[in-house]
Amino acid sequence: MTPSFEEPRFARIYRAPGRVNLIGEHTDYNDGFVMPAAIDLFTYAAIRPRDDRALFIPSENFSESVEFDLNQPDPRARGHWSDYVCGVAVMLERVGYKLRGADLTIRSDVPIGAGLSSSAAIEVAAGFALLDNSSFEIDRVELATLCQKAENEFVGMRCGIMDQFISCNAQAGTALMLDCRSLDFNLLSLPEDVRLVICNTMVKHELGSSEYNTRRAECEAGVRYFATLLPNIRALRDVSIEDLDRFGAGLNEVVYKRCRHVITENARVAEAASALEQNDLTRFGELMAESHRSLRDDYEVSCAELNIMVDLAASVEGVHGARMTGGGFGGSTINLVKTERVPEFKQIVATGYQEATGISPEILVCAAAAGATRI
Ligand code: ADP
Ligand code: MG
Repeated sequence: MTPSFEEPRFARIYRAPGRVNLIGEHTDYNDGFVMPAAIDLFTYAAIRPRDDRALFIPSENFSESVEFDLNQPDPRARGHWSDYVCGVAVMLERVGYKLRGADLTIRSDVPIGAGLSSSAAIEVAAGFALLDNSSFEIDRVELATLCQKAENEFVGMRCGIMDQFISCNAQAGTALMLDCRSLDFNLLSLPEDVRLVICNTMVKHELGSSEYNTRRAECEAGVRYFATLLPNIRALRDVSIEDLDRFGAGLNEVVYKRCRHVITENARVAEAASALEQNDLTRFGELMAESHRSLRDDYEVSCAELNIMVDLAASVEGVHGARMTGGGFGGSTINLVKTERVPEFKQIVATGYQEATGISPEILVCAAAAGATRI
């Protein structure tokens, strides 16, 4: 019998959260700063040990089960959802965690493919469960790094460390400012009377992935330019606003704008952290608005639907801040909204968006949750 959530006495149950990024967009691959928060939507893993070295993995979301032999010499991805789980097992084994076989049932409340990182949530939930099932101590930073490695090298998705890191290390009621180079992080309390409201535009424009690669190349071009003028430039993270003002004229206009976004966005994350520390949500919200404008005008990764959603939100009373979140070209906005104003917010934004676009948006109201844990 597979371990089920209905018969918990036969299994141990773990969960890992999805996430939303409050500020710090397109900074992670520039070795910069991000500020995600975990949301109270989770992926659950129910695990029970087996006597052999097999993994038997049912996903309730996909109504499907997969078997995986931990002893196979050269495990390969199958282009299947189970790669996210098997990849984590492979990376754990590769660094020396010899895992027990297990029956491992997956269930998720994190919407899949909606930019809330269901992928990191399944990786972290599975990794946490597999380690504990084999009586290993959990090192949360190492687990995040290995889950990212699984997604990069096994699944074949080029993602940064943010998603796995927040899913492992979040604390309830806080946002986490992360230095994507050193992995140093700082937990920042969010006021109790705000909600993280995620508005899904329900659109996903095709150019997303090609433009992502173009942006990365443009950032690399910027790094090459600044490295000829200044010492110790390894990434745009090492270039200051003063450097940009002084030397930026030598860049072509497009690369200049891309660099300006990344460099000012890193500065905004730092300032947003101070604003939160001082409980200054007005300033925090202004920084979110500046971030959105910079993504729209300098980085050019927004789209009409995201701009409409942000403009609508900004007009509602009780909204501290609103901006696009995630890669862009569709997906969601993140809004910091006073809890008591949330019903009104939902109504105004949903109606306004429907009128402007003909599309009915999905609106999720979340609180900042804790990272992966056994429950
Ligand atoms: P996001 O992380 O934004 O939700 P991704 O495309 O990065 O989107 O990851 C989604 C993929 O992760 C799914 O297509 C599936 O392969 C895997 N996945 C996520 N949650 C589950 C789940 N509960 N069961 C099985 N696979 C899942
Ligand atoms: Mg993902």
